[in-house]
Amino acid sequence: MDEFSFIDSIKPTYYRQPSLLKGIGDDAAVFRSSKDIVTAVDTFVEDVHFSRSTMEPYHIGYRALGANISDLAAMGASPSFYLVSIVIPKNWTQAELSQIYSGMDDLASKYHMDIIGGDTVSGKQLTISITVIGYTITNKARYRQHAKEGDIVFVTGTLGDSLAGFHILTSDNENNRYVDQDFYIHRHRKPEPRVAFAQALESLDRVSLNDVSDGIANEASEIAEASNVSIVLRENDIPVAPSFYQFTYEQQYQWKLSGGEDFELLGTVAKGDWAVVNEAAEKTNTQLTVIGSVVEEEKHPVYIEDNAMRKVLKKSGYTHLK
Ligand code: ADP
Ligand code: MG
Repeated sequence: MDEFSFIDSIKPTYYRQPSLLKGIGDDAAVFRSSKDIVTAVDTFVEDVHFSRSTMEPYHIGYRALGANISDLAAMGASPSFYLVSIVIPKNWTQAELSQIYSGMDDLASKYHMDIIGGDTVSGKQLTISITVIGYTITNKARYRQHAKEGDIVFVTGTLGDSLAGFHILTSDNENNRYVDQDFYIHRHRKPEPRVAFAQALESLDRVSLNDVSDGIANEASEIAEASNVSIVLRENDIPVAPSFYQFTYEQQYQWKLSGGEDFELLGTVAKGDWAVVNEAAEKTNTQLTVIGSVVEEEKHPVYIEDNAMRKVLKKSGYTHLK
């Protein structure tokens, strides 16, 4: 199959976004907007970011787009379009490539997103680069630099699930010895970005948000550094799944703090605005947990408290005594 019939095969028969003027099929796509445009790109390389031993092609597409949409969620943006640049090696079949696109389209349809372009080339390693485009109403993009001393630090969902799923998929599991393994594997393969929750915060003037792609230790540091504050997290309050206790203490600690790829949202908000955040969580059926507070800038960006003992939390999730 040549490049042109491939493009034909993935070209949508209809588009969902009314603002789209030209989708796939010209030199570039065109859409019209009076809102603030938010855009991001992420690249996934086979055997670096994903592997066929733990993911079906469908999941590869689903997850790659999910990671990108999560970045839009963390900006408070409403996802609308995406473009896909793909490097295709000879050993991938047409059917497998279609499954990648069908994984993307299933997730995209939940947000009424349209695929509006891309690029197709051949090469040695399957590589998928996705550009997403979304929008916010004027001046409502959510920046990392918006944290302030006295803010509450919160997180959605539970942390560490994705790496737990990856662990189950890659370790010896002959006797199905793990409890809730389908849950963890699902969290690894089909992450659901927190778009609705972030959008339900729209009435707030100020909230800082960051999505958990590299682990909460890292994301908290990014917020603290961008805002010139420090963040203190309480270890015992970090939310995990009910059956997370089946893993060793070291695994739990490592996965919940630096596992990442859970695509939950970490945020900070003024105490006076907490009711709005709570309401947003209820309205969108989102688990929400307070896990710490923002303090005046100290020597390190992030600290973690455990039984009133405060330790420095490194970006990697490693802790040492203050
Ligand atoms: P050009 O040569 O003008 O760059 P192409 O032949 O590369 O155009 O692409 C034709 C159309 O198909 C364009 O609209 C482009 O955005 C789209 N397209 C190409 N490859 C992909 C892909 N892998 N996924 C989605 N759209 C694609
Ligand atoms: Mg081209």
